[in-house]
Amino acid sequence: KVELRNVCKSYDGPPQVVTNVNVTINPGEFFILVGPSGCGKSTILRMIAGLESITGGQLLIGDQVANSLMPSERNLSMVFQNYALYPHLTVKDNIVFGLHVKKVPKEERKRRCEEVAAMLGLSDYLNRKPRHLSGGQRQRVALARAIVNESPVCLMDEPLSNLDAKLRAHMRAEIRQIQRKLGITMIYVTHDQMEAMTMGDRIMVLNKGEVQQVGHPLDIYNHPANPFVATFIGSPP
Ligand code: ATP
Ligand code: MG
Repeated sequence: KVELRNVCKSYDGPPQVVTNVNVTINPGEFFILVGPSGCGKSTILRMIAGLESITGGQLLIGDQVANSLMPSERNLSMVFQNYALYPHLTVKDNIVFGLHVKKVPKEERKRRCEEVAAMLGLSDYLNRKPRHLSGGQRQRVALARAIVNESPVCLMDEPLSNLDAKLRAHMRAEIRQIQRKLGITMIYVTHDQMEAMTMGDRIMVLNKGEVQQVGHPLDIYNHPANPFVATFIGSPP
């Protein structure tokens, strides 16, 4: 599990941009952070990943307090909004980059790379550079690079925002399918309420750094906790 206890964040002094976030994300759950631009979604994800310090409260990963663990000690993988692929490396080398760092043996790197490439329809592109791929293919490489680590928890920050509507719908289904198949815990950020409603086992609605509501998408839609949630989710009046 990943648990946040009264987690707060301020960047170099006031104002606080995340205030008292409390939530327990269960193993195998597809959990979504949703809210308007600037509400603190990326900040929360980056604190979980260890890319930003936590200025108040506790983060637990499994049963361990993780506040001061290095990112590499947290056993998580992350997909960034801009994909952050290495332009000078081939698709194959992008995918296995993290395995090199972890000193996974060559044979196993090859086996795992081929397995995730097949899963994501990238087998024919392994020797290309990212600039010779479409947006959707690049997105799949970023996804492959995350899941090849076999981490139990995957963090994604608006991974589909650069794609057109049709591809986005297709990739939503694909991400969901892979997450189920591998049984990984997903913590997924979006500002798109449709995406949250269709993908999440549970969603957390944020506004101005504060949790407004956590629950199953339909429960939130039918029983919004306050007018902000009702308007943001588009609940019927
Ligand atoms: P978006 O949907 O636009 O990506 P977000 O919900 O991910 O928004 P954050 O990026 O977490 O929002 O930002 C939350 C608040 O923290 C914003 O007010 C932002 O200006 C501020 N902020 C983010 N990063 C920094 C930083 N490095 N230094 C100072 N303030 C920051
Ligand atoms: Mg963001």
